[in-house]
Amino acid sequence: MTEERMKDETLEDQLIEQEFQELLNDYLNSNHRKKIEIITKAFLFAKNAHAGMRRKSGEAYIFHPIAVARVVAREMGLGSTSIVSALLHDVVEDTEYTVEDIRNMFGDKVAEIVEGLTKIAGGIFGDKTSSQAENFRRLLLTMAKDVRVILIKMADRLHNMRTLSYMTPAKQYKIAGETLYLYAPLAHRLGLFAIKTELEDLSFKYEHPEVYDSITRKIRDTEQERSKLYHNFADPIIDKLDGMELHYDMKERVKSAYSIWQKMQKKNISFEEVYDLYAVRIIFQPRDGFTEKQECWNIYNVITGIYMLHPDRIRDWVNRPKANGYQALHCTVMGPNGQWVEVQIRSQRMDDIAERGFAAHFHYKNVGMGDENRELDKWLETVKDILENPEPVAMDFLDTIKLNVFVSEIFVFTPKGEMKMMPLGATALDFAYLLHTDIGNHCIGAKVNHKLVPYSYKLQSGDQVEILTSKAQRIKEEWLSFVITPQAKNKINAELRRRRRAIITEGEETVTKFMADITDQNAFIVKMIDVLGLISKDDLYYRVGNKTLILDNNVMDKVLGKKSFFRSLLPSFISSEKKEHKNTTLNPQESIDKKKDYLLTEEQCGQTYHLMECCGPIPGDDVLGYINSDGIVEVHKRQCEVAMRLKSSYGKNLLNTDWGEFKKKGFPVTILIDGIDGMGVLLNIASVLTTEMTANMQSVHIETKDGIFEGSFSVYVHNVEEVNRLCKRLLGVKSLRRAVRQE
Ligand code: MN
Repeated sequence: MTEERMKDETLEDQLIEQEFQELLNDYLNSNHRKKIEIITKAFLFAKNAHAGMRRKSGEAYIFHPIAVARVVAREMGLGSTSIVSALLHDVVEDTEYTVEDIRNMFGDKVAEIVEGLTKIAGGIFGDKTSSQAENFRRLLLTMAKDVRVILIKMADRLHNMRTLSYMTPAKQYKIAGETLYLYAPLAHRLGLFAIKTELEDLSFKYEHPEVYDSITRKIRDTEQERSKLYHNFADPIIDKLDGMELHYDMKERVKSAYSIWQKMQKKNISFEEVYDLYAVRIIFQPRDGFTEKQECWNIYNVITGIYMLHPDRIRDWVNRPKANGYQALHCTVMGPNGQWVEVQIRSQRMDDIAERGFAAHFHYKNVGMGDENRELDKWLETVKDILENPEPVAMDFLDTIKLNVFVSEIFVFTPKGEMKMMPLGATALDFAYLLHTDIGNHCIGAKVNHKLVPYSYKLQSGDQVEILTSKAQRIKEEWLSFVITPQAKNKINAELRRRRRAIITEGEETVTKFMADITDQNAFIVKMIDVLGLISKDDLYYRVGNKTLILDNNVMDKVLGKKSFFRSLLPSFISSEKKEHKNTTLNPQESIDKKKDYLLTEEQCGQTYHLMECCGPIPGDDVLGYINSDGIVEVHKRQCEVAMRLKSSYGKNLLNTDWGEFKKKGFPVTILIDGIDGMGVLLNIASVLTTEMTANMQSVHIETKDGIFEGSFSVYVHNVEEVNRLCKRLLGVKSLRRAVRQE
């Protein structure tokens, strides 16, 4: 060995010793019993076992177990058994030593944990990652009889992520993905918030380096401005809280780069549009004579006494802590600069638990030295319960796992935690029909994860869905476009058919009464259908039944062949136009070349061809033409039912068509909208309509219920492009979920 290397190694030894001392300091600063001896023994054993081994970074291997043990001690608050196990966690995996050797030297408990860690190194956390969350949970349980195995594994992963830059890019990508998919949700589940955030940010950094850089840069660049805003906001609060002689710490908390990015993705917004970029956190020590809970609300009163509260954004996790143990009181208020600011109010104890999970719990129980293990066991039991309990905690668990692996299926939960499988893309309405036909038929919206959403809302795996119903609700035709499951489609169709039949029956009665004086009623009906340009008897009854066709003297006159003054006013009554047309064109059928596309010009609209009312095509729609027996071209949308029928029986009379330019003539279309009701939504919609529309609007109809609004309006447009543009503009209105043309 050269002198140079010897010097290097001595230096390295000193560094190792130093790191180990830091570990001991972390441990000694905790409330644990001080079992320095066993920890030192484990350190020396591991150092010896890994001697000569180096990590990818080039440093001695032992730095890694020490670092993992430090995470376990300081960031998770675990005790000597965990620290010893962490120091030894790679010994069986990477050296000649066996679990038996560990057992002989460190006892059963440590051996069991190290064995668990060695097993999962090649199991679920290894290459053969299970794609099923349920299996994942089960595997986790069987492989880790002691939850400390999972916690140490988590610490191991955290350190590997912190040193990931030494790996090849391919490895980085794989490890980062796995971390985001398995470890970060698990950390969240266990209430290890700080670790979860760090894991996410590190994964994000390696998975999307450019985006990560750009977001972190923007966070830095906006720091000054933010700090000014913060002081404007905080100063009046500080004044009041100081006056209360409260011991507290108030600080600004910027969202992590990863959660900012997630928000940008989810809401499709830019960095600048993330309104809750930062939150304000107040951490207090309760004053004598006050409970933590009372103090939370005292502080809340101070804040809402200064700033206006957003009534929908109070989260009381003090009375009802989250499943992972999180406790705090959150509220959102309007800051002096007109922006919403979230304030998180927690006691020091709550804050510790939030950052370090359940591990922090027993620090606050004033336990005697000997009780440490009992308290720790209690906590570990709780964590185990979380993993074992299928509901409702399992729901949270799955929720956070975010089952990216399922590409074609999602699973969602009823309010009672019952799991339902659904195809990807299923909506709340699909879910309603899955529960029961009646629930579907009367669905007016849903609460997804306790938030109100319209029934067209697309569900995601892990969503908890509560369907809202109203007896007054009636199925609408457009519902068919909101569902994707055959089950829901069939039920909606059946109900629409049932209702259509009822209307037809009603219409039939009216028609019968209308022609009470007519002798040859059959001939009269045939004539009526022809004269009114309808398709069938049912069509006639239906229109009469739903009052879109009123039977009055004009109709009677027309059917009986008398001229009517009103005829010209009623464009749907095409019989007169037919005749006029016949007079001007000799045999139009012969003049049409069926091999060529038939040009639909603005001038000829309503003359040589008709845009049929059954499907209401407008310029730009995908249509086909049908030459009827009068030589008039009937234009239908390709998906129109009538067109389908014509296609199957009168194929030789069909024409391909081409749209000419339409500039003057406007066509009525109905646009359906829905969304979450909120301040100014209607105003915004109105402003889009007025700026966008040059043509006049016919009618507007908007209903709001339970925070969801739904409506339709008809406008005159020249072509499909105009409708699409209008819908697109409307979708720019915040909280508008849907804007589509009624088909
Ligand atoms: Mn390791």
